[in-house]
Amino acid sequence: KLENATLKAELGRATWKFLHTMVARFPDKPTDSDRKTLESFFLLFGRLYPCGDCARHFRGMLDKYPPQTSSRNAAAGWLCALHNMVNKRLEKPTFDCTKIGDFYDCGCGDDKKETDK
Ligand code: FAD
Repeated sequence: KLENATLKAELGRATWKFLHTMVARFPDKPTDSDRKTLESFFLLFGRLYPCGDCARHFRGMLDKYPPQTSSRNAAAGWLCALHNMVNKRLEKPTFDCTKIGDFYDCGCGDDKKETDK
């Protein structure tokens, strides 16, 4: 089957939105379990992302730049930097990671905290 660049880009946009929004809600002070969960998530994501070439590149980046899970800021900065590496490879403008602050809002308000079941 032929590649469909429109669909590939649409999947990419939706996925980045989800990933950045997820990380923006990662705890400021994560437990060891939170940290392991985020790390596993990205390792599994790298195995399962449906665009095979993208996933392969992403796994290469994970080897070089393992997920930073010590805090929300560390995780958000790490993911922003990885997205910028993809932007560079695709000759897209890079994003100023110091301005990521409240850019990604899940719209969920103050719902139950991560620790609630
Ligand atoms: P996107 O890169 O999708 O970004 C969407 C929006 O996010 C931007 O408009 C901007 O507001 C914001 N943004 C931009 N940079 C950042 C940043 N650094 N941090 C936070 N927010 C930011 N496509 C390929 O053709 N080849 C690949 O190898 C490839 N690998 C990918 C790997 C992954 C893990 C993912 C999720 C996607 C990959 N894609 C790849 C898709 C590609 O990255 C884009 O998503 C797609 O080309 C659409 O680009 P876009 O210009 O709409 O912006």
